[in-house]
Amino acid sequence: MGIVNALRCRECKQEYEPTLKYICDECLGPLDVTYDYGSIKVSRDTFANREKSYWRYFELLPIAEKANIVSLEAGFTPLHRADRLADALGLRAGNLYLKNDSVNPTFSFKDRPAGVAVSKAREMGLKAVGCASTGNLASATAAHAAKADLPCYIFAPKDIEYAKIAQALAYGAEFIAVDGTYDDANRIAAQISDAKPIGIVNVNLRPYYVEGSKTLAYEVVEQLNWKVPDHLIVPVASGAMLNAICRGLEELYELNLVDGIDNVKVTAAQAKGCSPIVEAFKGNRDEIVPVEYPNTIAKSLAIGDPGDGIYALRRLRQFNGYAEDPDDDEIRDAILLLARYEGIFTEPAGGVAVASLKRLVEDGRIDKDEHVVCYITGNGLKSIDAIEGLLRKPRIVKPNYMDVVEMISIAGT
Ligand SMILES: *Cc1c(COP(=O)(O)O)cnc(C)c1O
Ligand SMILES: [Zn+2]
Repeated sequence: MGIVNALRCRECKQEYEPTLKYICDECLGPLDVTYDYGSIKVSRDTFANREKSYWRYFELLPIAEKANIVSLEAGFTPLHRADRLADALGLRAGNLYLKNDSVNPTFSFKDRPAGVAVSKAREMGLKAVGCASTGNLASATAAHAAKADLPCYIFAPKDIEYAKIAQALAYGAEFIAVDGTYDDANRIAAQISDAKPIGIVNVNLRPYYVEGSKTLAYEVVEQLNWKVPDHLIVPVASGAMLNAICRGLEELYELNLVDGIDNVKVTAAQAKGCSPIVEAFKGNRDEIVPVEYPNTIAKSLAIGDPGDGIYALRRLRQFNGYAEDPDDDEIRDAILLLARYEGIFTEPAGGVAVASLKRLVEDGRIDKDEHVVCYITGNGLKSIDAIEGLLRKPRIVKPNYMDVVEMISIAGT
C-alpha cells in the first residue's frame, strides 16, 4: 500500500508526521503527502490486470492498510473518443477525448478525493467525517461515510441544486445549509474541525484528500496506452483537482511510467460569474483577487476564494496552458452540444470545460494536431434547472394512434 513518509510544506518544505495536520506551523503553507518513491516498484504491467477502480493505483495513494479502504468502486471511468464533437468544433477525428467522470458512483469526480479521505479517517480511527461543499463533495463524502458507518456533517451554501442536497440526505448525512457563500460554509467547517474530533475531508484531511484526484491523470494516460496527451482542459473551483492532475503527471514521469511530460499543456476552465483564477492568469498577476459574491449556473465551481488558487495559477504557467471563462449562455449551449453530439449529459461544470475548449479552438489556441482531453467532472441529472429553459416541452397527446402517427416524419424515408 502507499507508505506515506511525511507531510511536507508546499512552500518552505518543512516536514511533519503524517497526522491530521494541514497547515505549516512555520509559514502557514499547505501540507502535501510525500512517499518514498524509490521503494515503489511499479511498471506499466503492474496495473494491467488490476480492479477497474482508482484503487488500482494503491501504491500511490496514502492508505497503509488495505483493510482501511472504503471503496464504492469509483474511478476507471470511460475515456471516450469524441469524433462527432471534434468535428463540430473543428478538430480532427481521433484528436479529442472526453474523460467521463460523470458516471462515478455518486455521479462526479469527487468520489476520488472523498473516498481516499474517508479511508484515511478510518485508518486514523476518527469517529466522524464531514466536508465543506459546493454540492458534489457532499454526496461523495456522505456515500463513503455511509459505507464506512461514520456520521457525516455537510456544510454547504443553502442555494445549491436541490438534487445534490437530496442525494446527500439520502445517504444519511447531517446537512447544514449555510445562508451565505461557499467561503462562509468553508470557514465554519474549518472552525468545527479545530473544535471537534472530526475529519473534514477537504480541510484537515486535505493533504490526503487531494491525492485521490491524481488518479485522473494516471487513468487518462493508462487508457491512452501510456501516451501523454498534448492538452488537458480542466474545470476549476478551488484548484485542488488541477494541481493534483499535474502532480499525477509528475509522478508518472518520476516512476518511469511515461517518457516525458514536457509537452503537455494544462488549461483551466472557470465560469465568468466566478473566475478568480482565470482573471489572474489573463491579467498576468501572481495574486488571486477573491470574488465576493459568485454568480453563475456552474454552482459546483462557485468558489470565490480558491484555496489552491495560486498553485493552480503556477501550474498553468509551468505547463504552458491557458485559462478561459465562458459565460452562462455559452455553458448551457455547451451542455447541449455535448449531449447531442456525444450522448453525455453533464452538469454546468462539464459545460464550462467544453465551452472553454470551443473558445480555444475558435481563437486558434489549439493546434489541429494536438491530442486533447477534456475532463467531464459531473452529471447533468444533478442540475436540470440549468438547461430547462432551453428544452422543448414534451408534447402531450391523447392516447390515440391516429393523432400521434401524423406527428412522426422520419427524414430519408
Ligand atoms: C468540485 C468540482 C470541480 C472543481 O474541483 P476543485 O478541486 O475544487 O478545483 C469540478 N467539477 C465538478 C463537477 C466539481 O464538483
Ligand atoms: Zn512552511
